[in-house]
Amino acid sequence: MDATDLSTLRSRVKAFAAERNWERFHDPKNLVMALTSEVGELTELFQWLTPQEGVEAMRDPKRGEAIRDEMADVLYYVLRLSDVLDVDLERALSEKLEKNKARYPAVITRGSV
Ligand SMILES: [Mg+2]
Repeated sequence: MDATDLSTLRSRVKAFAAERNWERFHDPKNLVMALTSEVGELTELFQWLTPQEGVEAMRDPKRGEAIRDEMADVLYYVLRLSDVLDVDLERALSEKLEKNKARYPAVITRGSV
């Protein structure tokens, strides 16, 4: 991923909120609650599906659109939260991947959870 992609999206999301004067509602607690709600909406789309139905969920255009929409809502709030808390998401993910590499060495954990 281009290093500017997430920061560009973060700026677009910030501008979207600012144009609507919603920034005043976007404290960390509210954003985490909204993020959780959106994850719940995404979860609901997979609730009660069999594993195979979940794999095939995107084949249904209407369900696929709903899944994309909810994933976008989740990303929206992650990006807003990263702005409010001044978290560099690309750096945070890179650092977390390094921690996970050390915690779960591929040579030891490959194929197991
Ligand atoms: Mg939603």
